[in-house]
Amino acid sequence: MRLNLQEVIRTPGMRAPFSFQMDLSGLEFGGETPVAAPVEVSGAVRNMAGALILEGTVSAGLNLTCDRCLAPFSQKMRVPVEHLLAEELEDEENDGILLLEDGEIDLAEVFTTAFVLAMDTKHVCSEDCKGLCAGCGANLNDGPCQCRPEVDPRLAALAQLLDRESDD
Ligand SMILES: [Zn+2]
Ligand SMILES: [Zn+2]
Repeated sequence: MRLNLQEVIRTPGMRAPFSFQMDLSGLEFGGETPVAAPVEVSGAVRNMAGALILEGTVSAGLNLTCDRCLAPFSQKMRVPVEHLLAEELEDEENDGILLLEDGEIDLAEVFTTAFVLAMDTKHVCSEDCKGLCAGCGANLNDGPCQCRPEVDPRLAALAQLLDRESDD
């Protein structure tokens, strides 16, 4: 999706809105392809007193696997994007500025990059996910498992003594 900005560049105050969908369902991330189709992109490029400003959002559903309990879960992801655009760089220091090519900007590339950079590398189904039991592998979110708690050997010895006394 390329947006031609020739007219916006020449017209202070002009705003060129855009809205389109992308398919990133083939995008591999951590060995999975988590991005549900379609990815929605919308926003606008504005000419503010001669400066070109790109503002928009990219959003999509993600189908993920919890790192703690391994359960599949879905999450909505929404990334705001803002860049200054320029036809040429006046000074090399301006990292945030995107260069136009022949007065055009490749929006798919800009928003795909922003989306990928915003992806979390860790995914947890919920902040208080209890994860899996290290002993039996049960999902502790479903309740306590059948594993016996480790018994303190001193308490076990006392329990034996008490048992013997009660037999007398
Ligand atoms: Zn979980
Ligand atoms: Zn267990």
